[in-house]
Amino acid sequence: MKLNPGELKLDLYCNGMQLDRSCAIDEDGCGILSTRGGLGSGLELILPGGVHANVPVTEEFAKKSPYVLHKEAGGYVVRKGGVAVCGVALLPRPAFYDRKTATGKPMGRIGILQGTYLGIYPAGLCDFWGMGPRMNCRFCSVGLNLGANEEAGKTVMDVVETALAARDECGVTFVHFNSGFCRNGDELGKLEPYIKAIKEKTGLLVGVQAIPSADLSAYDRLKKMGVDHVSFCMELFGPAEFRKTCPGKAKYLGQERFLKAIGYCTRIFGKGKVAGEVIAGLESPGNTIRAIETFAKMGAVATVCVFRPCKGTDYQDLPPPAYEDMVPVFRRVYTACLDYGIPFGIAPNIKVSIVMLPEECACLVPEITLGQRLQLAKLQAMKFAFQAYFRAVLALKSGKL
Ligand code: SF4
Repeated sequence: MKLNPGELKLDLYCNGMQLDRSCAIDEDGCGILSTRGGLGSGLELILPGGVHANVPVTEEFAKKSPYVLHKEAGGYVVRKGGVAVCGVALLPRPAFYDRKTATGKPMGRIGILQGTYLGIYPAGLCDFWGMGPRMNCRFCSVGLNLGANEEAGKTVMDVVETALAARDECGVTFVHFNSGFCRNGDELGKLEPYIKAIKEKTGLLVGVQAIPSADLSAYDRLKKMGVDHVSFCMELFGPAEFRKTCPGKAKYLGQERFLKAIGYCTRIFGKGKVAGEVIAGLESPGNTIRAIETFAKMGAVATVCVFRPCKGTDYQDLPPPAYEDMVPVFRRVYTACLDYGIPFGIAPNIKVSIVMLPEECACLVPEITLGQRLQLAKLQAMKFAFQAYFRAVLALKSGKL
């Protein structure tokens, strides 16, 4: 294999992949689930090294990809120009997807695995989609999927039962809640009952991704509830690009509100427990790198999504970015964490399929400095201590202690 797993993941994001007729993705894996993950419209693959990737296969650009997935005697193989690149595995369909909650809803329509964590969108449709004219972010597919692929109404117990099933069946350690825009500004209020119940009944780590609240004390409440991670989707760093792609966010929130929330949360949650999210490929790589550095200076990790022109979205006809343009961006995701002493990769068993994790970005960096090496050693010690503590908490909650 010429590309290492991190390079391959990035290249697959940029080029997508074709499926050979031999593939039986519904029988052998979990098929293609377009849920409100926005950019997660693809096939869940496990690459060499246990790297999870949600690979675009349905979008137009993927039809021209040099990568083709084949099912062969020994399993699934990715080929490029006919030459075998590497063997891969399809993410098996978790049995809990077909189990029903007490209210009779299939658990696979309550939450889905995005890599090895459980993603849940408990609130209703983002209000930007219901405005006239629509004010939704132009790349977003949220309004296309609700009701089609997932339940519109999820009770707290639906979510708890699904999380318990995912924990016990798949070893899930992290539940990620996501919410779009609410006209009344109560995004966090809507999530709170779910968060409380998950913390109390499952012991799992909880992340929250929501519109930045104007009332910053809301984050003190989240911290008290035991939320482990918060993230903020600013999407674009350049002001003009932000206004063009995210008209609703520009009109009702503004970029300042994102930066203020990120700054406040890094102070109360601590370094590495906050992320600023941006999309690479809809503005210059230089802008995205400036976003990464701005977040890093505040103590936040940059979560960088590779732009995917998902079918049916306003941006479906735009091209995805070129791999070569993305390499410096993702190198900086990794080196900025080391340069600013931001912890990453500490929690156990969190593999994310829809973005490159900082530790996966390491595959793109040919060399690091002595200072960066020392920071890595520090991280290893933190990881060891946290994982021992977390396993004990989980065993207690699962009744295994
Ligand atoms: S805020 Fe933007 S990206 Fe998020 S759900 Fe609403 S339209 Fe989609």
